[in-house]
Amino acid sequence: MPIQKLLIANRGEIALRIHRACHEMGIKTVAVHSTADADAMHVRLADEAVCIGPPAAKDSYLNMANIISAAEIVHADAIHPGYGFLSENAQFAEIVESHGLIWVGPKPEHIRIMGDKVEAKRTAAKLGLPLVPGSPGPVETFAEAKAVADETGYPVLIKAASGGGGRGMKVVEREEDLESLMQQASSEANAAFGDPTVYMEKYLGDPRHIEFQVFGDGEGKAIHLGERDCSIQRRHQKVIEEAPSPVISAEQRARMGGIVATAMADMGYRGAGTIEFLYENDEFYFIEMNTRLQVEHPVTEMISGIDLVREQIKVAQGDGLSCTQDQVKLHGHAIECRINAEDPQTFAPSPGTVANYVAPGGMHVRVDSGLYTGYKVPPYYDSMIGKLIVYGSTRERCIMRLKRALEEFVVQGMKTTIPLHQRIIRDEAFLSGEYTIKWLERWLEENPA
Ligand code: ADP
Repeated sequence: MPIQKLLIANRGEIALRIHRACHEMGIKTVAVHSTADADAMHVRLADEAVCIGPPAAKDSYLNMANIISAAEIVHADAIHPGYGFLSENAQFAEIVESHGLIWVGPKPEHIRIMGDKVEAKRTAAKLGLPLVPGSPGPVETFAEAKAVADETGYPVLIKAASGGGGRGMKVVEREEDLESLMQQASSEANAAFGDPTVYMEKYLGDPRHIEFQVFGDGEGKAIHLGERDCSIQRRHQKVIEEAPSPVISAEQRARMGGIVATAMADMGYRGAGTIEFLYENDEFYFIEMNTRLQVEHPVTEMISGIDLVREQIKVAQGDGLSCTQDQVKLHGHAIECRINAEDPQTFAPSPGTVANYVAPGGMHVRVDSGLYTGYKVPPYYDSMIGKLIVYGSTRERCIMRLKRALEEFVVQGMKTTIPLHQRIIRDEAFLSGEYTIKWLERWLEENPA
């Protein structure tokens, strides 16, 4: 059934992104917002808006009852969760579906499996994806942990089964520290995620983060749209992403892409997903799957010409995939810079009122942002205020265009990470493509501004 009216259960640039795809499809949109977001751009542009609570996310953007009530009041027939907030909450997906609404997302059971990292790894192994060597399941006793570490060799990484956002991980360099770090990891995981379960992996020394975009119709067909390289990270948070990866060959892409698409087809996966790998010495190691749209999805859109939100909506309303694997053609190169309202040296959050805003433009330049002059960036949410995404026929041309676009970008009234991006993309390591997940933090230490 074609969706007529879609409720966007999110805020900021992603809410705007979803609104745009809907309007291009003739679908009416409903924005939900906290009292702190009444003036937000996505609220202004949506056909209808419903206030769902006070600023704190737990009372508004995470308030399932209020969101469902809003959908019923306005007679929406579908909900798109964006990323973050409730996007990977299997219970919310079930509630949405049990109210007769279309959930623009994967099947709840797949969200649940992939949300438990131990279960996710077991499933990935069954589906034939290569794993980081480590424990086959949770580790409970020191003896079990020691046996795993003896097998993989040190260093090992202890990770929280319910972890996320790079939190709850401990690197163990030697056996003497194993028992105490394991206990620490487990109690920290319990405090942060309400689940003490931990598991172990070999700690890879200097890998890249490479992820594949997948899409399934929920009925046994699935495709991949190539990879994104997200190795430019700080504190396990992505800062710059690019597609394709500068180090992956067409043969590797076809081989790994084939493996992940087959895995998703076998699973009966529905909608958009991302399969994340660490990549070292020409080998891929599965770490997790995200069952939602990613912040960095536009780089894939730029090189594939496929609107991923449109595709999500088409699959959710039962139209199936709009192309076959053979019809997917990847061209050129795209890079995304995440622009945060932060001090570019200390990374301290810097919310405030936008005194002047001028976004870059021109050929192949895309800005996904809800900013406008006079907008007050609320202090309650993530500090990302926009994304600059640039395309070029080659990586070199893409970087030249990105330099030009960053020069044009004006955001006054607060500190932003625009100057940081300008510095990074002039560095030799970035220009050569020879960087790993550890590179940015080392570089920041060696190159104080
Ligand atoms: P989260 O869900 O908390 O983001 P991930 O499993 O996706 O956790 O890992 C986040 C980041 O941590 C990775 O991008 C990588 O930088 C680092 N990491 C995770 N597992 C390993 C590993 N086995 N060896 C080295 N680094 C790792």
